[in-house]
Amino acid sequence: MHPREQTIFALSSGRPPSAIAVVRVSGAQAGPALEDIAGMIPAARVAKRVMLRDSRGEVIDDAIVLWFRAPASATGEDVAEFHVHGGRAVLHALFAALSSIDNVRAAEPGEFTRRAFENGKIDLTEAEGLDDLIHADTERQRRQALRQLRGLLGDRAREWRRQLIEASALIEAGIDFADEGDVPEDLLKPAMAKIGQLRREIEQTLAASAQSERLRDGLTVAIAGPPNAGKSTLLNRLARRDAAIVSPYAGTTRDVIEVHLDLDGYPVMLIDTAGIRETEDPVEREGVRRAQERAAAADLVLWLADDDGEDARPPRPIGEGGVPLWEVRNKVDLSSLEDDGAKPGQLEAKPGQGAATRYFRISAVRGDGIDNLVAALESFAGAWFGSGETAGITRFRHRNILRESAASLAKTEALVGQGDEFVAEELRISIQLMGRLLGRVDIDDILDSLFKDFCIGK
Ligand code: GDP
Repeated sequence: MHPREQTIFALSSGRPPSAIAVVRVSGAQAGPALEDIAGMIPAARVAKRVMLRDSRGEVIDDAIVLWFRAPASATGEDVAEFHVHGGRAVLHALFAALSSIDNVRAAEPGEFTRRAFENGKIDLTEAEGLDDLIHADTERQRRQALRQLRGLLGDRAREWRRQLIEASALIEAGIDFADEGDVPEDLLKPAMAKIGQLRREIEQTLAASAQSERLRDGLTVAIAGPPNAGKSTLLNRLARRDAAIVSPYAGTTRDVIEVHLDLDGYPVMLIDTAGIRETEDPVEREGVRRAQERAAAADLVLWLADDDGEDARPPRPIGEGGVPLWEVRNKVDLSSLEDDGAKPGQLEAKPGQGAATRYFRISAVRGDGIDNLVAALESFAGAWFGSGETAGITRFRHRNILRESAASLAKTEALVGQGDEFVAEELRISIQLMGRLLGRVDIDDILDSLFKDFCIGK
């Protein structure tokens, strides 16, 4: 039997051990699997408590089972769900029992979603929303993914496609009926008005989408400064606040430590570029180069220096190219300086520095000025992400297709008067593009790359 026709199973809940674990089975053998293991098939969509047994009659677990008959299921196939106790031994026994049934096998990553898509249960933008939802770190990312999953972009694209088809029908009808190949004005005019309006809508959606993409990727803040300025201490302090940490993540390299934070719902990645300094050691120099690269690519740089140290400036290219740089003077608890009257976090115009420069005085060890710094980071994040609530375009793929669509519609408009067949042909391209956004054509390559990113069991 072809793998696509086989019945698949997977753990659909989180990583064991857990209180309850949900194992989903999808495909033609889901019913027989329930019969074999639970001894019965319950009424559809009614939870039933049963004893699960393997083929030798050994008890696997006291469990709840559910039955969804095709096509009224998440995948569109027959689906069985086993809600068992989430210990590894139970799961192992259940997986063994399932695998022993002919044409039942463990699922590949994303295979459940792929089947749901192939059976018309979800469109491609919804599948992508689901992928984002599984990987959403913060509340705002989760909300955005949910919106997309509910099909906001999908709904809009379907509507656009419907209207394009309407406009196209008007023009094609005109071509069929016209004597000399010229579409009568009373057909062409409303069609072109519709096309112009759609193009503007798509362009507006694109313009609003930059923020959504940012939300997906997060804001990167680099903490840079000379050795011993207190970068790691500050990073640790920020990471420990308010249980703000999303996933503590000990660095990609020895030289760059990353921490993912949830600041007021915004995903922020802090990177500590510990190693930035002059050095002769070639290995170390490579680390410095990499750390500099990361800091230079950040969206905001916190430049840390001792409060009473000399006025060190960051090495190039950090803080260049318009990236805002905040000057953070650390170790105020040790400072021998008189308080110069500058309040922590106050905007201070320093000669030769842009308006993006802010000035903070903190003690990473004692905590002075940290609240201020965090509040400033939160408002920076808020402004940087914008409201991000509108567009639903979160992927490069969406953006590309919509750009092509807008360009193709503009071309359609420009072709008016140069032969209506050309107009009709260009319009067909737009319709195809919109179909591609919804995953109606040309999709196998997108599918492969999308679904392999899913967790198994999704
Ligand atoms: P990094 O090299 O920039 O990462 O600096 P570290 O975070 O490792 O800090 C270097 C040293 O400075 C450590 O001994 C810290 O305990 C100390 N340090 C960091 N911040 C402060 C501070 O606000 N006050 C004082 N007194 N010491 C600090």
